[in-house]
Amino acid sequence: MILSNVDNEMKIFLKNYKRPTNFNRVLSGMRPTGKIHLGNYFGALKPWLELQETLYKKGLKHTSYFFIADYHALTTGYEDVSNLKENIKNMMIDFLAVGLDPEKSVLFVQSHNEAHSEAYLLFGMITSIKLLERNPTYKELKENLKEKDLATYGFLGYPVLQTADILLYDPDIVPVGIDQVPHIFITNEIGRKFNNLFKPIFKEVKPYLSETPKLPGLDGRKMSKSYGNCIYLSDSKEEILKKVRSMKTDPNRIRKTDPGNPENCTVYLYHKVFAKELNLGEDFLKEIEEGCKKAKFGCVDCKKKLAQNIISFLEPIWEKRNYYQTNFDKVLEIFKEGDKLASAYAKEKVRQMKEAVNLFLF
Ligand code: SF4
Repeated sequence: MILSNVDNEMKIFLKNYKRPTNFNRVLSGMRPTGKIHLGNYFGALKPWLELQETLYKKGLKHTSYFFIADYHALTTGYEDVSNLKENIKNMMIDFLAVGLDPEKSVLFVQSHNEAHSEAYLLFGMITSIKLLERNPTYKELKENLKEKDLATYGFLGYPVLQTADILLYDPDIVPVGIDQVPHIFITNEIGRKFNNLFKPIFKEVKPYLSETPKLPGLDGRKMSKSYGNCIYLSDSKEEILKKVRSMKTDPNRIRKTDPGNPENCTVYLYHKVFAKELNLGEDFLKEIEEGCKKAKFGCVDCKKKLAQNIISFLEPIWEKRNYYQTNFDKVLEIFKEGDKLASAYAKEKVRQMKEAVNLFLF
């Protein structure tokens, strides 16, 4: 497949898309660009947890790789690195607090693994600039982040680094959001080129689209740090109560006595998500729906219930966060072990790459 027309490729992809069911190896990463919010949790971490458990139930241990993509944080954030170290540390804690389990998955930090840089360099030799310029995210971010100078080699080339991140571990699937599917097209195109030019050592990877619905921000738009509409995993009870109070509701429900339409309300959408997470059952949602439609209670009370449910959902995560924060040496041990496991696998792949391009290894 030549990426000449990404829109077309995406149409064909979506038309024929079937979620892969037969997989034994999984890989995904997250950029440490700030605190993890609920949108990140439901969009990425929750699907990762499910995949971790699926593989573990199959009797597979350490065939799911989840990493902190710290080099990628530099592609758009190279001008201000003041928080990078703190963000990486917090992400290490959050990975463990949400339930990623070092007994089941390999958890590691990208920059601790030299194989990524080496593979990036080798893939860079064969990647056409035209292919990278067709990356829709590249075009979109360059347009949207006008305040940043993104006319850099690193930013144009980040899909090459992603190719290295992925292909080094032979995953069958990469869990991604729909906007990242073109990156997988690029990965496969670079992998195929390498295979054709030198030696077939890389397999095709499949994008794995999550079934978990996306959680919008407090204002109903995409949850994003730049919109200031996030609930963070590390928020306190007070912050959550305050944020939920500010949430957008059905605009037609002005007075407490006005009947509302929950389907027009972000609060209700959140209720659906958290009722499922907390196993509150259908009755709970019916009660909210009816209460809203028949104006049995006001939005203030409805929001209080939601805030309480979000708090109940986050409490076990906070407990683990606190534990790992005060026992950070344990976090370091876990990630050092993960770094070792990941490096061992990726190092061998880089050796095969070097051998394939006829470098003199001795
Ligand atoms: S009662 Fe609840 S669901 Fe209905 S509009 Fe108010 S906040 Fe939304």
